[in-house]
Amino acid sequence: MNKVLFGPAGYPNEARGNVQRVFTILREAGMDALEYAAVYGLQTKDEKARLIGKLAKESGVSMSLHAAYYISLASKTSRIRESSKKRLIKALKFAPLMNVKRIVFHPGSLGGLGEIEAHTVIREGLKSVWQTAGDLGGGALLAPEVAGKLSAYGSLEQVIRLCQEVDGCIPTIDWAHLYARSQGEINDRESYLKVLNRFEDELGELFVDNMHFHISGISFTGKGEVAHRPLGEEWGPDILPLVEIVQECGYKPTFISESTNPLQGALYAKFLFEELEKGSK
Ligand SMILES: [Zn+2]
Repeated sequence: MNKVLFGPAGYPNEARGNVQRVFTILREAGMDALEYAAVYGLQTKDEKARLIGKLAKESGVSMSLHAAYYISLASKTSRIRESSKKRLIKALKFAPLMNVKRIVFHPGSLGGLGEIEAHTVIREGLKSVWQTAGDLGGGALLAPEVAGKLSAYGSLEQVIRLCQEVDGCIPTIDWAHLYARSQGEINDRESYLKVLNRFEDELGELFVDNMHFHISGISFTGKGEVAHRPLGEEWGPDILPLVEIVQECGYKPTFISESTNPLQGALYAKFLFEELEKGSK
């Protein structure tokens, strides 16, 4: 990406599910990205997928897709492991129709396994997904997300290792999840820089050229994430230092807002960024 992009997770409510309206609203709001929510499975027909892809292209909206929540690559049940892989393969096949470049997903729970065993199972599952369908995605990449619950697979270390060990994987950094996982520690300039430097050191250009961020407020307990909350209100994390770093370092991430009102959150983040840009001139 050659510029910083902002957009909501899922269709704006105001569109009431009408695809044409979705892109009109995004254009009018000055949004450059949309993360299509296939969180309950990808049920879109080919024809509809093509229409989404066409409208996205015409509107200059960069598309990602959030795959099903019930992906569980390390599940105890082999049937669920297989269906999880199938869901990702299906998402890769759909990607060119919808002009999707990133397939965001949660690898799932540890399935009762130890961390190392779970990592191995998930890694091998993803390798087989990529071998089967990597070249069908029209350049789309798999983007495992940092998890918000401590019991889920998806620590910063695990996501980095997956991206190092499996072709076609790039990280999705969900800053709200990191904040929840770290019990509120990752919430300022210094800690954000530490995280970014670590990804950059470990993954190099693969990370820098494909930065994909989720942002929102979040509430958490000792076990991690409870619920996504609005951005810029009483809930952390504070995203201003993050936007400042992006602006200063010239990073070009895509910011996807998973705020309670996703479009509002994306507008808020874009506003912060543009104000900083003005101030730096
Ligand atoms: Zn997320």
